[in-house]
Amino acid sequence: MPVPFVDLYAQYSSLKDEIDAAIARTIANSSFVRGPDVEAFEAEYAELMQAKHCVSAANGTDSLYIAMHALGLKPGDEVIVPAQTWISTSETVGQHGAKAVFVDIDPTTSTIDPNLIEEAITDRTVGIIPVHLYGQAADMDPIMEIAKRRALWVIEDCAQAHLATYRGQQVGTFGEISSWSFYPGKNLGAMGDAGAATTSSDDLARKMARFARHGGINKGDHEIEGINSRLDGLQAAILRVKLPHLADWTERRRAVAARYDRLLADIPSITTPTAADGRGHVYHLYVIETDERDALQSALKARGVPTVINYRRALPFLPAYADRGHTADDFPVAHRLQERILSLPIYAELSEAQQDEVVAGVRDAMNVEK
Ligand SMILES: *Cc1c(COP(=O)(O)O)cnc(C)c1O
Repeated sequence: MPVPFVDLYAQYSSLKDEIDAAIARTIANSSFVRGPDVEAFEAEYAELMQAKHCVSAANGTDSLYIAMHALGLKPGDEVIVPAQTWISTSETVGQHGAKAVFVDIDPTTSTIDPNLIEEAITDRTVGIIPVHLYGQAADMDPIMEIAKRRALWVIEDCAQAHLATYRGQQVGTFGEISSWSFYPGKNLGAMGDAGAATTSSDDLARKMARFARHGGINKGDHEIEGINSRLDGLQAAILRVKLPHLADWTERRRAVAARYDRLLADIPSITTPTAADGRGHVYHLYVIETDERDALQSALKARGVPTVINYRRALPFLPAYADRGHTADDFPVAHRLQERILSLPIYAELSEAQQDEVVAGVRDAMNVEK
């Protein structure tokens, strides 16, 4: 029984007729860039994510970049970002000529540690970008309290956390702007690159839409120089087919995660992911921790079970940031985590038989009885 790390074809198969029809309709209309499905998707997505506006973009990295533009980020500014995340969160700060300042993560949730944020703030700091990593909300109450008291903006990086909650409140509703990715493997995935930013501010929505469309909301009206970052019509039509299924897929991911939790609970050398109190985890990734990570990954590979390390190096230790001269002591939690993490296959369509194969592989490799 093959177990892919993510099975995009299985999801397509479950909605084949509707997706094929949506693609055919888009081709028949020739609405390839923007068009009716893009506008409809923006409205539907804003509603589901409880925001007044959704501004779509070509991908979730652009939506971060566009959000920072709307908030006025400029050269010399500093922005607080977690040490452990995908590089989109920090590279987009650098692209504005500003500096991403890393803050270590909490050892239990792997999200930014709010207790370390204040000491990283300087008189150049303008914002904080919490990342709801692996599908679990960052600790938003203390983050929002600090942001308010220090007059900083907050962009939530929700790329991995569609429908995740914090104390009953949906992620994406805390900060000034929230950024989303619909990269194919994300919890809501297109069939190519796609992304969006949501906000409840009319002014920020307008600034984002203007910047993403060559600096003018209407064709030819260039109020400023902008960029070209648009959601294409095919992706919007496909995302509209998938959106109504997101809640069910999220429940399936939670069931798969709960089953892994149960079946791996008795292995002392493995730590399964912790969903902190009050956080509705959506398990974009199911990340276990073990000191024997490399041996476990090789053993699983040998039996055909693919795993991934998200991410092999925390941001401060990447060559891209070598000029900062960071050492393990600067970010001890992120450094220890990068040596221990392993992501097991998880997606809505993963069958119990496939999951049993992953679990059997882990148990064999760790020398525990079935
Ligand atoms: C995927 C991801 C992004 C960016 O998404 P793309 O659509 O691939 O550009 C940003 N931040 C995080 C944390 C992500 O996981």
